[in-house]
Amino acid sequence: MTGKVYLVGAGPGDPELMTLKAARVLQQADVILVDDLVSRGCLAHARSDARVIEVGKRAGCRSTPQAFIEKLMVLHARQGQAVVRLKGGDPFVFGRGGEEMEALAEAGIDVEIVPGITAGTAVPALLGIPVTHREMAPGVTFVTGHGREVDWEALVRSRTTLVIYMGLQNFARIRSSLLAAGLSMKTPACIVQDGTVPSQRHRIASLETLEAAGLEAPALIVVGEVVSLARGKALERHVKAAA
Ligand code: SAH
Repeated sequence: MTGKVYLVGAGPGDPELMTLKAARVLQQADVILVDDLVSRGCLAHARSDARVIEVGKRAGCRSTPQAFIEKLMVLHARQGQAVVRLKGGDPFVFGRGGEEMEALAEAGIDVEIVPGITAGTAVPALLGIPVTHREMAPGVTFVTGHGREVDWEALVRSRTTLVIYMGLQNFARIRSSLLAAGLSMKTPACIVQDGTVPSQRHRIASLETLEAAGLEAPALIVVGEVVSLARGKALERHVKAAA
């Protein structure tokens, strides 16, 4: 009898932002492979006899090679176990869930996907930033700030809100690319570190004055008019208007 692998989204950080389905699947898991982005509180749903394997992959730190993670999942599933691969946010949004699904299918292992709330919508939402406010943005683009292959000009032309994952290290370069592509330096922008958990920190400014120094991953960058709706910022405007 072969087991099964569940690719599960743990949500953006706050364990209460995990789905009921994720919690149920965790209760059934024999083996749990967990990313370092996942809050430990999410594991409260696991059985006490479940085997928890940490497979952190945060940039710059020692990490478990992707091929090894895939091997571990196949190995345990072939022993008939219920394996949960628990990832931050949604497994298919910059989470390598796609690659893992393919590797498992190739190995003949049954896979089930349990979507999660991605940081890209939840983290801005908690600051009061609606990423697709109708009057301000015709859409939202989730984009990686990690590689060099992004067409920033096309993104600026799209006028969508930009939600940039993994962009903190490259913030200076991303900003210059956006400005070179014609985006106004007055465009509201923010960086949020550790969104939805108690250590959350954020900075809201114009693209021109936003500072990345001193912030650490995981951090999300949001660029667009919608950032002006952030609570606190809105209050500031209100106060200025009243003065
Ligand atoms: N699958 C995840 C994203 C994984 S890529 C999801 O759907 O949310 C990792 C990047 O996600 C981080 O570098 C950061 O840019 C972003 N991220 C994830 N969780 C975050 C959080 N709680 N606060 C801020 N950014 C976060």
